[in-house]
Amino acid sequence: MKRLTILFLLVCIINATYAQVTKTKLKDKYVLVVHGGAGTILKSQMTPEKEKAYISGLENALQIGNEILKNGGSAIDAVEAAVIVLENDSLFNAGKGAVFTNEGKNELDAAIMDGKTLSAGSVAGITTVKNPIKAARAVMEKSPHVMMTGLGAEQFAKQQGLEIVAPSYFFTENRWQGLQKAKENEKEKQETDSVTQIKRREIAFSELFFSLSENGKIVGGKYGTVGAVALDRYGNLAAATSTGGMTNKRYGRVGDAPLIGAGTYANNSTVAISCTGWGEYFIRLVMAKSISDMIEFGKMKLEVAATEMVMKRLPAIGGDGGLIAVDKLGNISMPFCTPGMYRAYIKNDGIKVIKIYKE
Ligand code: ASP
Repeated sequence: MKRLTILFLLVCIINATYAQVTKTKLKDKYVLVVHGGAGTILKSQMTPEKEKAYISGLENALQIGNEILKNGGSAIDAVEAAVIVLENDSLFNAGKGAVFTNEGKNELDAAIMDGKTLSAGSVAGITTVKNPIKAARAVMEKSPHVMMTGLGAEQFAKQQGLEIVAPSYFFTENRWQGLQKAKENEKEKQETDSVTQIKRREIAFSELFFSLSENGKIVGGKYGTVGAVALDRYGNLAAATSTGGMTNKRYGRVGDAPLIGAGTYANNSTVAISCTGWGEYFIRLVMAKSISDMIEFGKMKLEVAATEMVMKRLPAIGGDGGLIAVDKLGNISMPFCTPGMYRAYIKNDGIKVIKIYKE
């Protein structure tokens, strides 16, 4: 009897200590930032309906991530959930709504990273997984690898019980027309160009980045990738990015989104970042990890480092785009050097801030 009482008391003490520890670990502060792509997004080319739809897409992503963070859930769960919402929304170039490759396929890339452990997972060039971000997370958590591509990644996702769809699930008329227009435009330019071989190649390359506006006109350079970064109530950071890549992309092209350190990065001691833009340039600048290094080794503030990279170094080598970032203190940065970027954030005050155009 005496023994039982001692045991009971011991359990009570352990429970109380555990409750105390978890209570003190849980802070009030949390932050979630999401993006739906950067590019030639102009108020003059937007209808009120379309604008409303984009805002509501971003709002839904904030809503779901906010619930998780508010209730003491993890940053990694919040960024995954927010990205799933955007992947399922055909307005954005990720999951349903992904752009078409030159061959008329939808090849999807995604990555996720946990700033607490520096563990990461990514997939590239997949065509049958409904939510590529789930596949990226499975690579991170259920495999010894960081990156899987193509058929192998799809086979792995299937083994993990993720939802598999026919490639036709990703078909949307708007994106299909975008590809046709991009091809027509490319052909026209090639035909009229009689200057040099090099010039022709440049034109073909630039055509990768055109997409359709509301009225069916090519507006050029809209990057509809989606992403989320978060700081949770335990002080952990996480980042996630998902994309269909670039309209008219070719030759097994993979962008920056699934490359850890380029389009996606998270490290508890610095920052969580998700990028959108002309992927080739983000890869060459190792964008996200460079900003983390500038903070860690250069002792720079997030805003200074992110602005330097996106507003100066990126255009300096011919690229464009933007990113969202949250640092370990909860500071947010959302620079972009394109006319607009779909972006939004929420903090523990519960106020949703949603923006599209330049201020
Ligand atoms: N960064 C993406 C890529 O290069 C495109 C985008 O942001 O929309 O694949």
